[in-house]
Amino acid sequence: MRLGMVIDLKRCIGCYGCQIACKAEHGSRPGTTYARVIRREWGTFPNVRRLSIPVLCMHCKNAPCVDVCPTGASQKRADGIVFVDGDVCVGCRACVMACPYGARYFQDEERSYFGEEPNAYERKRYAAHAAGVVEKCDFCRHRLAAGELPACAANCMCKARIFGDLDDPASEVSRLIREEGGFQLNPELGTDPSVYYLPPDR
Ligand code: SF4
Ligand code: SF4
Repeated sequence: MRLGMVIDLKRCIGCYGCQIACKAEHGSRPGTTYARVIRREWGTFPNVRRLSIPVLCMHCKNAPCVDVCPTGASQKRADGIVFVDGDVCVGCRACVMACPYGARYFQDEERSYFGEEPNAYERKRYAAHAAGVVEKCDFCRHRLAAGELPACAANCMCKARIFGDLDDPASEVSRLIREEGGFQLNPELGTDPSVYYLPPDR
């Protein structure tokens, strides 16, 4: 099994629902967005359009972030999920430098959204986000363990994020990649991402 995601750029309307759903699910601190939406130009002049591109950790098969971690805090599961063991991370940030997709966030200080001091909600949610360690998307492994989809996929109202097993040729993700022209971001880097995109203009 190799868990992965397909993101359909034709379906995405750039509503940021996935980004907010991720924030709500994880209660992450300001500046940390495991799932986010970026805007980029797509095409060649004069056939150019502004595109919303949802991104997250690519859960690379050849993950440089795991290779450079000196403590073993960055790990890859047998099903391909790359995660950080916060109890082992020493905050050296080698993985942040090694990740070509900007998918890792060092928790540098205990910031809050509303004023100097965290409010009651933030105090509760930030208890899981200690300063001095690196965090990232883990495909919501706590939700997967409960038989649920990652929060970004479950809450996308356009069903633009599809999750499944890339190793199963009969899965929806495999079918979409095969039949709809699925591609990886920056394949030339050789990391072999487990996140694929479907072109917007098909
Ligand atoms: Fe695009 Fe869905 Fe994210 Fe909205 S929730 S920005 S439609 S991927
Ligand atoms: Fe590691 Fe970055 Fe690849 Fe995620 S996208 S597995 S953090 S190198």
